[in-house]
Amino acid sequence: MIKFLDLQKINLQYQNEIEAKLLEVFRSGWYLMGSQLSNFEKNLSDYIGAKHSIGVANGLDALRLILRGYIELGIMNPGDEIIVPSNTYIASILAISDNGLVPVLVEPEIETYNIDISKIEEKITSKTKGILIVHLQGRVVFSDQLKEIAEKYQLKIIEDNAQAIGAEWNGKKTGNLGDASGFSFYPGKNLGALGDAGAVTTNDDELAKTIRALANYGSNQKYVNIYKGLNSRLDEIQAAVLDVKLKYIDQENKIRREIAKRFINEINNPTIVLPEYPSDENEHVWHVFVIRSEKRDELQAYLTENGIQTLIHYPIPPHQQQAYKEWNELSFPISEKIHDEVLSFPISPVMSEDEIKQIIEVVNKF
Ligand SMILES: *Cc1c(COP(=O)(O)O)cnc(C)c1O
Repeated sequence: MIKFLDLQKINLQYQNEIEAKLLEVFRSGWYLMGSQLSNFEKNLSDYIGAKHSIGVANGLDALRLILRGYIELGIMNPGDEIIVPSNTYIASILAISDNGLVPVLVEPEIETYNIDISKIEEKITSKTKGILIVHLQGRVVFSDQLKEIAEKYQLKIIEDNAQAIGAEWNGKKTGNLGDASGFSFYPGKNLGALGDAGAVTTNDDELAKTIRALANYGSNQKYVNIYKGLNSRLDEIQAAVLDVKLKYIDQENKIRREIAKRFINEINNPTIVLPEYPSDENEHVWHVFVIRSEKRDELQAYLTENGIQTLIHYPIPPHQQQAYKEWNELSFPISEKIHDEVLSFPISPVMSEDEIKQIIEVVNKF
């Protein structure tokens, strides 16, 4: 069987280096807020090009903490509106509503699956304070027009960079395009830990300081609490593992690009709409390879029978979730079509030539 993602094989590439680090942390007797975390934060900042990196417990917390930071700084207030794509993973939206902010959904472009920047301005009101862009599937969403809209209405641009670490727009990395960015290092992400992990990057000194405190019970100084904070820390073991894997992220993303290119050039099936390969290939790191088909469910069953594991990202759009009952009657036709038709094929830095060929061959026979 061709697995959707072989995490064991991905991590075993670095077995010696990772095991040495695990042992080092174990023997050090220091498990939180130590040198592994500060090393990783420094290396992540250098890689992204942003002044500050703050390791946190997971990607959802990274986004929650950014918005909470803006609230503590008086830049946002509960009840304010944040624009977000209607087809994103639910966590982007949870981060907004968890802070008492109001998510305002904007439809994506069907070609890129990313928020349609031309539809943002019509959703802006006097309460709008930010745009949460999501580089979905690993593809950058950014433009001069987006920057102009944010400047015109004085909105913060927050990046959900959970799926796109390593991607670039005009030579600048995602995570350094907007005002602040949330990263997830969930094991299945392009840079994956051995459990939950996340980070915030920003060039904003005040925001960085506030988030650092918020993630540590609201305290910058032991037993002195300035905010009603939370406990959201990146532990030494995860930081050490991530620091090893960060060195290889460009190499791994390059392999993902090569596989995506093969699929796009060699899959030829009239029932399947392939994703776009961006003219600047650095704009995509292919976290997932997503196709569309009106026969999606048949195609998925056929691939399963033929030993190819696939997933659906995502089967239910946020506005149709029970968690957001208040939106259930709304209509977002592009998102609904996407959720009805998408299928993600296996793609990973450890797929063999045989597996790539087999996927192409089997898909073409459908
Ligand atoms: C994975 C993901 C998150 C959440 O990250 P966790 O580390 O699982 O909390 C947020 N947004 C997007 C787009 C994601 O893919």
